[in-house]
Amino acid sequence: MILFKKIKDLRTKLNQLRNEQKSIALIPTMGALHNGHISLIDSARKRNDITVTSIFVNPTQFNDINDFEKYPITIENDIFLLEKANNSILFLPSVQEMYPEGTEKPTEHYQLGNLENILEGFYRPGHFQGVCRVVHKLLNIVNPDDLYMGQKDYQQCMVIKKLIEDFQIPAKLHIVPTQREASGLAMSSRNLRLSEVARKNATAISKALEFIKNNIANQPMEELKATAQKIITDAGFQKIDYVEICNADNLLPAQDFNNQKLVALAAAFIDDVRLIDNMLLN
Ligand code: AMP
Repeated sequence: MILFKKIKDLRTKLNQLRNEQKSIALIPTMGALHNGHISLIDSARKRNDITVTSIFVNPTQFNDINDFEKYPITIENDIFLLEKANNSILFLPSVQEMYPEGTEKPTEHYQLGNLENILEGFYRPGHFQGVCRVVHKLLNIVNPDDLYMGQKDYQQCMVIKKLIEDFQIPAKLHIVPTQREASGLAMSSRNLRLSEVARKNATAISKALEFIKNNIANQPMEELKATAQKIITDAGFQKIDYVEICNADNLLPAQDFNNQKLVALAAAFIDDVRLIDNMLLN
């Protein structure tokens, strides 16, 4: 694996690889890598010659300074896992390298429509602007053939799909299924911040979503959501941002089954850590 910290050096290497007709994958991450991240690299390895994994804790996508400051950093272990996964290139830029213009004033306002006002957009104002800002930069820098992201961040995948379409970026987005612990808990870097007890109780989110999935055909949606919320609260979560059942294509809240493709999504706090998860229902 080759490590680059400077955009210029990375570009020189990628130009050389492109001249050799190598296909290039981009896998953006914020580090504290786990098997969820590795599954993105594994998917990319099946299709692309070169995998470029970036590790960058992007300050502009954190609406909560506390969350940013406590974001886990495990770079030595990350490098170990990347080597083991046969990743080709690690891009590890500084904030100055990614934001020479400074992190304060955005150069662009991304038109995200309703995606910006609902679910994660509503509870984390500005979050998706920051996500677009950094992913747009990474796409510009790497110019990949393929981009790999996790279904774990369902709404983020929709936002990036829109970014790629609106800016006519010639990269194909691949969405990789959520990797879970044996307990059902969705793998997440933020799980590292949970106590042992909270980590056990945190499985309630996936249990609640599973409950919705198993009963979607025979219970009204409001009842399903109320039971799901109770499962989460009873497990010791301090606060629920949302438990929603939405149309899987536009994330508008679904009132009834109506032959739509549906997704259930949840966000809640345990041990002051905000966890999200989602499940396709049909
Ligand atoms: P993050 O480092 O949390 O920004 O995540 C980087 C990428 O990994 C994003 O595309 C995430 O959706 C994806 N990812 C995170 N957790 C998982 C998981 N449990 N399963 C699959 N992909 C994941």
